[in-house]
Amino acid sequence: MDFHYTPEQDAFRRDIRQWLAANLPKDLCVDDPQDERVAPDRATFERRVEWQRTMYKAGWVGISWPVEYGGRGASLMEQIIYDEECFRARAPVLPGYSGIGMIGPVLIERGSEAHKRRFVPRILSADDIWCQGFSEPGAGSDLAGLSTRAEDRGDHFVVNGQKVWTSGAQFADWIYLLVRTDPAAPRHRGISYLLVDMKTPGINVRPLVLMNGHKHFNEVFFVDVAVPKANLVGKVGEGWSLAMTTLMYERKSGGGRSHDDQIARLGALARQVKIDGKLAWDSPLVRQRLAQLAIDASAFKYTRFRNLTRQLRGEPPGPEGSILKLFGSELGVRIADFAGELLGPRVLLNQPSEDVPDGPRWYNRVVSSRQYTIAGGTSEIQRNIIGERVLGLPKD
Ligand SMILES: Cc1cc2nc3c(=O)[nH]c(=O)nc-3n(C[C@H](O)[C@H](O)[C@H](O)COP(=O)(O)OP(=O)(O)OC[C@H]3O[C@@H](n4cnc5c(N)ncnc54)[C@H](O)[C@@H]3O)c2cc1C
Repeated sequence: MDFHYTPEQDAFRRDIRQWLAANLPKDLCVDDPQDERVAPDRATFERRVEWQRTMYKAGWVGISWPVEYGGRGASLMEQIIYDEECFRARAPVLPGYSGIGMIGPVLIERGSEAHKRRFVPRILSADDIWCQGFSEPGAGSDLAGLSTRAEDRGDHFVVNGQKVWTSGAQFADWIYLLVRTDPAAPRHRGISYLLVDMKTPGINVRPLVLMNGHKHFNEVFFVDVAVPKANLVGKVGEGWSLAMTTLMYERKSGGGRSHDDQIARLGALARQVKIDGKLAWDSPLVRQRLAQLAIDASAFKYTRFRNLTRQLRGEPPGPEGSILKLFGSELGVRIADFAGELLGPRVLLNQPSEDVPDGPRWYNRVVSSRQYTIAGGTSEIQRNIIGERVLGLPKD
């Protein structure tokens, strides 16, 4: 493992850092960009769209996309440095993240020439904002159990059904949708992949409000929604393989996030707050807990580096992917839980106060940290994968 950056990588980091320092409006910055990756309201969404356009004009959107599609053909290391710098500057996640990170690369890899011409150019420039319509009330971990139906009516499909947990659907122009086209076929083979205009009559979006008031995701209902055949990606019945390609890109587009940053903030908090009338930091138990979190964060960081080294050498993905997903999201929960122990009931204060000067940070962490143990494959599913595919344990 080589821990050093090349002079070119250092220069790249300087470039993006300076550009962000000169251009990112302070009032667009967010405390934890990943937690607030969907804008809280339409006004903020519109401002973030403007921000994406500013970044796009300067060549800072979709940097790992091929040059012919408007990217920079950036290397994996450059993408990582870029993510780190955006996180460091507390830049908001771009509203077009689902298009940039998922459907754009899928269409570049597997879309028709017509799809590439029609949809791809509008993604980086934020002319089209996309959302992902995969999960349903009866199909999440077991995605192949989805039942939203698309019936063939000659030149178009008619879609009926419901999606759920659809992040950002309230602002999206388009949705990439998994539908069942052949209920008689084996589960994985009866699925197709459609691109659907969210303005089509028969689509109804209902927000689901999180405990902290954030409106992140939605239920999306489809009643007799007509979708032209031209909007089918691949062939009828190829939806499962396209879904797997999409999820592969989703796993790649993680974005910058730092346990170290949160643990350092917890350390600062422990120096401020009192437990039973004494400064929390003076308790050896508190310091031990903080030390353990810091050790776990280091173990996570080096496992991530090992994973990265594999990728840079072009080796096949190892077990680190599921281990990172499981350990990283569970560590996030442990950090939030420890904030709760330090602050007691005060952790629920959702605005700055004398007791919790950096509110609502810890309240948001307590509420939001759990989502990462569910989104993109739950902890239980990661444990199944590690047990079966890494450790070779029997299924039952
Ligand atoms: C923040 C967030 C954003 C999301 N955004 C989107 C989005 O934009 N588009 C979209 O399509 N979806 C989205 N999702 C949905 C996400 O993909 C699903 O929540 C996830 O796949 C889990 O499915 P489920 O919620 O139906 O839970 P279920 O699959 O019903 O699981 C319920 C519980 O049972 C456990 N379980 C299930 N199967 C097994 C098993 N075989 N072995 C052991 N335990 C099991 C699970 O671990 C979980 O604890 C989002 C979710 C979150 C949290």
